[in-house]
Amino acid sequence: MQLAPPDVHAARLVRLRAALEALRLDGLLVTSLHNLAYVTGLFASAGAVIVTKDDVRLVTDHRYHEMLLGRVRDWPTLTPVVLPLGTSYDEILVRELRDLAGLRVGFEDAHVSVRRLRGLEGMGASGPFPDLIAAAELVEDLRVVKNEWELARLRDAAGRLSDVAKCILPKALAGRTERDVAGELESEMRVVGFDRPAFDTIVAAGPNAALPHHRAGDRRLAAGDLVVIDFGGVLDGYAVDMTRTLALGGGGRREKEVIGAVADAQAAALRAIAPGQAPETVDRAARAVLERAGLGDAFSHSTGHGLGLEVHERPRIGPERPGAPEPLLEAGMVFTIEPGAYLAGWGGVRLEDDVVVTATGSEVLTDV
Ligand code: ZN
Ligand code: ZN
Repeated sequence: MQLAPPDVHAARLVRLRAALEALRLDGLLVTSLHNLAYVTGLFASAGAVIVTKDDVRLVTDHRYHEMLLGRVRDWPTLTPVVLPLGTSYDEILVRELRDLAGLRVGFEDAHVSVRRLRGLEGMGASGPFPDLIAAAELVEDLRVVKNEWELARLRDAAGRLSDVAKCILPKALAGRTERDVAGELESEMRVVGFDRPAFDTIVAAGPNAALPHHRAGDRRLAAGDLVVIDFGGVLDGYAVDMTRTLALGGGGRREKEVIGAVADAQAAALRAIAPGQAPETVDRAARAVLERAGLGDAFSHSTGHGLGLEVHERPRIGPERPGAPEPLLEAGMVFTIEPGAYLAGWGGVRLEDDVVVTATGSEVLTDV
């Protein structure tokens, strides 16, 4: 697995510290594991980091000791804190936070449970302790726009996912089960270098294709079926995501009409992408095409979602939500464009590709 080079992490810290300063925070306790990976390069199932104006303290346990030493070699100013056996993360975090007594330290209120916050504050109350301030999604905000290193990872991953599609989709033939095709896709993802699938692969045949989140079951693919195949992989920590719909046996007139309408909706959304546009404008472009085709009600989800360290992250490319504005599109944002149409009892169609916003429009990263 490739980790972001030290200068990428240094640049992320500069941006994070500027965001802290804008909120008059003296530090940030990062407990979301995706945010931990973004800030420090440590991909772990447990850990935390405390970022202040002049210090980065990375707290982890013995399982990650070797990785931690590697991070310190690349990043000599990092302060490693290894959890002593028999102590909890929160005991150590309270100990480390005492050094910031009297200061304003942000915590990730989108990720810290009520119980955990009360526990930290309860233990902290027995001595000097900082004020813990809800800091919303500071690191997520930084993650929305990708830099060149991240774009290179995502481009590479999207290319490999396209190779998987070209290899496996022609083998999704009548007689095979959904589960069998999903298994072959996931196995090929490993072969081409993915760390893991980004989510449970969806292979939805016939009436199952009308269910946008059907997984893959025992149904056998049959001639005349529409088959929605949605799969994604994680490479170097970054997720990519693609959907194709096959019409087994070529498809009848109705199948061709719906596939055509969804393809036109996707093309309209892609044309609407440009820096400065609102995400809802892109969603509207796709939705308008399907509405004109009489399929407005059949398009029951957002047009797309951001990609990065998580397979669903910001920006959300969907209808405007009062009180939850999305940022305007900016060069370097990466997201999916995946309109669909689902008709209960009949089947469904979805087409999904991954795009990056460029200075003048967009570039499609997947190519099948
Ligand atoms: Zn997908
Ligand atoms: Zn998706």
